[in-house]
Amino acid sequence: MNFKNSIARAGLLGALLGIVAAPGVARGGVLRLPDGVRATAQSIVLDLDPAKVDYRGSVRIDLTVSAPRADICFHALRLDMKSILLRSARGARALLPETEDEEGFVRARPAGDGAIAPGRYTLEIDFANDFDERAISLYQLKVGDAWYAFTQFEAAEARAAFPCFDEPSVKIPYQLEVRVPAGLDVVSNTPIQSTRTAKDQRSVRFQRTKPLPSYLLAIAVGEFEFTPIPGTSIPARVVTLKGKRHLTKPVVEMTPRFLAALERYFGRRYPFEKLDLIAVPEYTYGAMENPGAITYSDQYLLFDKKSMSVQQRRTLARFTAHELAHMWFGDLVTMEWWDDLWLNESFAEWMGERVADEVYPEFDMDVSGLSEMETAYDDDSRLTARAIRRDVTSVVNLLQNADALTYQKGQSVIGMLERWLGRDAFRRGVLAYMKRHEWGNATEADLWQAMAEASGRDVAAVGAAFLNQPGIPLVRAERLEGGSIRLRQSRFLNFGLRDSVDRLWRVPIVMRYPTPSGVKEHTVLLTDGEATVKLPGVNEPPPWIQLNADQTGYYRWRVDGDAMSRLAEEAARVLSPRERYGFLLNASALLKSGAMPGDEYAKLLLAFGADPDPSVVSAVATGVAAIRLYFVTDEMETPFASYVRRALEGALDRIGLEPAVGEAPAVSAVRPTLFGLLADEGMDETLRVYARKQTDRYLSGDAVDPSLLGTYLSTAALGGDAELFDRFCRKFEGDPIPSERGRLLGAIASFRVSALEERALAYSLDGPLKPQEPFTILRKFGDQPGRRERAWKWVLANHDRLAKKLPAVYTIYLPWFAVGCEAVRLEAAKAFFSDPAHNPPGTEAELLKMVEYVEECMGLRDREGERVGRFLRQGLTPP
Ligand SMILES: [Zn+2]
Repeated sequence: MNFKNSIARAGLLGALLGIVAAPGVARGGVLRLPDGVRATAQSIVLDLDPAKVDYRGSVRIDLTVSAPRADICFHALRLDMKSILLRSARGARALLPETEDEEGFVRARPAGDGAIAPGRYTLEIDFANDFDERAISLYQLKVGDAWYAFTQFEAAEARAAFPCFDEPSVKIPYQLEVRVPAGLDVVSNTPIQSTRTAKDQRSVRFQRTKPLPSYLLAIAVGEFEFTPIPGTSIPARVVTLKGKRHLTKPVVEMTPRFLAALERYFGRRYPFEKLDLIAVPEYTYGAMENPGAITYSDQYLLFDKKSMSVQQRRTLARFTAHELAHMWFGDLVTMEWWDDLWLNESFAEWMGERVADEVYPEFDMDVSGLSEMETAYDDDSRLTARAIRRDVTSVVNLLQNADALTYQKGQSVIGMLERWLGRDAFRRGVLAYMKRHEWGNATEADLWQAMAEASGRDVAAVGAAFLNQPGIPLVRAERLEGGSIRLRQSRFLNFGLRDSVDRLWRVPIVMRYPTPSGVKEHTVLLTDGEATVKLPGVNEPPPWIQLNADQTGYYRWRVDGDAMSRLAEEAARVLSPRERYGFLLNASALLKSGAMPGDEYAKLLLAFGADPDPSVVSAVATGVAAIRLYFVTDEMETPFASYVRRALEGALDRIGLEPAVGEAPAVSAVRPTLFGLLADEGMDETLRVYARKQTDRYLSGDAVDPSLLGTYLSTAALGGDAELFDRFCRKFEGDPIPSERGRLLGAIASFRVSALEERALAYSLDGPLKPQEPFTILRKFGDQPGRRERAWKWVLANHDRLAKKLPAVYTIYLPWFAVGCEAVRLEAAKAFFSDPAHNPPGTEAELLKMVEYVEECMGLRDREGERVGRFLRQGLTPP
C-alpha cells in the first residue's frame, strides 16, 4: 500500500498503538483465530446495487476441524447475519453467534448441545449489510448521476464486508460471484469465468483465485472504460470511470517497463492471471496492491500527458513500481502476521525505488528518494519512535503502524544489508526466500535464514537489531596517530533526550578516505560500543573521512576535529550527488542533536547552494525551509528573505526560469521549489509578478509549464484578491482532471488576506471536495508558521463536521494541526483531545508525538535562535 501522500503531515504520521496489552490478546477480545480450525477455500456471492444503501450476500467457507471443539470462530464486523449453518457429510447444524467483539471476532456455537467433531465442514452464512460511505471496506460513492462500489480491505476491513477468516496467514483460494444491475461492469482479482444476464440483473462469476489473504481481495462495480496495456506478459488494462480513458497514457507507457524489470529481477513471470490498474475517485490511501486489481486514488493514476509535471511523473513511477513489487513481496509471499508488515512494505519500497531508478535513471530517484528516507531517520531520533517489529495488540487502526519507519527505515536497512552482502548474494537470498514461501507466509526469521544461506553471514544479528529495537545509531570516528581510527556507537537522539536503555547495533560501516594512492573504500562491521580500526593505505590521519559511503548505511555519523568541514569543502569533488544530499541531511540532524551550531548549519547551506547537482540543491531548499520553521520569528522576516535569496537565487539563475528543451527532469523538479521559496519567503517581487502573468495565461486556457503550474498558482495567490479566489474555485468546480485538483486546492489555501484565509478553510468542508481532500487545504496552512494558529482554531471550531467528512482513519491525525514551535496550542490540544468524543483509538499516540515535536522545536529555537538570528542579520550588511 502507499499512503504517504494522503495524510495530514506526510512523514509525521503513525506510531504504535498507545495501549499495552499481553501479546496476542486484543482490547476487549481475542486477537487471533484459534488453532484447530483451518479454512481451506471460500466462495462469496454478493448481490450489489451501488445505488442502494444495503446489499446482501452469502459465503461458504470450507473448514477442516482437527480436534473436538465447542465453537467455530470467524470474523464478521457489524454484519446482519441471517443464518449460520455448519454443513458436513452428515447434514447441517445451525450455529448461533454467541459473541462479537469490537474487532469483529465472532464465536458461534451449535444450537443445543454437542461438540463439533473433527472432520471437514462447510460454514454457510447468509447476511445483509449496508455499504460503507467513507472509502473503506466495501463502499459506495456517486459521481454525477452514476453510482459505484469499490473496496479497500487492508488491514482488517474485509470482515466488515462479508464473513471471513480475516488474517494474513489464512491464504486460501476464493471463488467470487457478484450480481449487479445489468449494464454495470464488475472487476475483481481474477478474469471473469462466466457471465449470465437475466431480466435486469447481471451475474458475474470470476475465476477461482490463487491462495490469497482476505485483505487482498478487491471488487469494483460501475460503468467503466477499459484501456489495454500492451507489452506485458499477461493481459493488463487500466480501468477508469467513463470518459477518463484519455488520461491513462502515462501509466500505460510505464507499466510494461516496470513489470519486465521486476520479472528479470525475480527470474519469473508476474505470478497472477491478469493485471488491472483501477482509478478510484474517492479513496483513503494512495494505492493498494490487490493482486490483479491494484486500486489507486485517481489523482495518482490519471494524467494528461501534456499537463503532467515532473513531480507527478516521479510519483506515478514510485507508486506503480511499489505496487507492482508487492505482487511478489506481500502477495506471492505474505507476512505471517501484522507484526511483520515491514516484510511487505519495506521490501516493496526498496524494490519499487530500485526498479523505478533502473527504468527511469533520469528521474534521479536514488537521490531525491533520500528526502522521504529522512522522515524515518528523523522520527527514529525521538523517544516516541517504536521498533519496526512490535507486538500487534489490536487490529483497530492497525495501519497507524504503517509509518515512515515501516516503509523507509525498513527500506534503508534492506539497502544497507544489500550493500554489505553484495548484490548477487542478496538477490540469491531473496529468490530462495520467494521460492521457499511462494503462495504462503513468512516471518522475519525466514528471510534472515535465506539471506544467511546465500551469503554465509550472520544476517539475523545485523538485521534484527535494526528491526526489533527503536532508534538510529550515531557512529563517531576519532582519528588516531598512525592511520587508525576509533569508532564509537550510541543511539542518536535529538537534543536533551535520554534513552532509558543502552542500545547496541551491529553496524556495517562503509567508509571512504583519501590515501597517497587515491581515495580508498573500507568496510567494518562495528559490533561493540567501541572499536579501533587501522585504515588500510594510510599511516597518518586522513584529512577527511566519508563515514557513510553511497549513503547506504542506516546511521548518523561524525568525524572529529575539522574533518567534517574539510569534507564539506571537498564535497563537490569527492562525494557523489547522493552522498552530498546525505551529508546535508546528516548535518541537519547534527543541528537538532546539538552537535552543530545553528549559524554553522545556515552557512553550510549557503555553500551547497552553489552545488552543480539539482537534487542536491533541492536538499538545500529543504534546509532553508527548515530554518524558517525553527527559527524565523516575525521580526526576522526581512533578514531571512535576504538569506533565502543568497542561498537559492544563484541556483535559479543557473537553471533559468524557462525550461530548456530536453533538460534533465531533476532540473525541472527543483525549479518550482526554488521559485516558490524565492517568491514567497525571499519576497522576490519580480517572480510574483511573473507568476501572476502565468496564472492569468493558464486561467484563460493557454498552456503553461506543467511542472511550475502549481507554484505559479500558489504564488499568484500570495497577493491575490477575492476575484482570483473565485476564479480558482470556478476552475476547481469545473471538473478538472484528478491530478489537477490538488494544485487548485493548494492555490485556494495560499491567499494571505484574512477573509480569504477564512473562506479557504470553510471551502475544505463546504466546497465540492472528496473525503480525502480537506487535508490538502489545511496542510497548506501548516507550511506557514504564522498561519497555523488560524487553521488550528478552525479545526477546533469545526471538529465534528470535519471528523464526519474525512475518511475515518484520518481523524487520529487531527492533533497534528496544533503543531509548531510555540507552546500556545499544546495545552489546548491536550485538553481538546482528552475528551473521549475527540479521541478515537490511536489519537493519543499522535498527540504524544506532536507534543514531542513541538517541545523539540522550542528547545532548538531557545538554544540556537539567537546565533541563527545574528548570522541572518550579518548577511544584510555588506562585508
Ligand atoms: Zn505498499
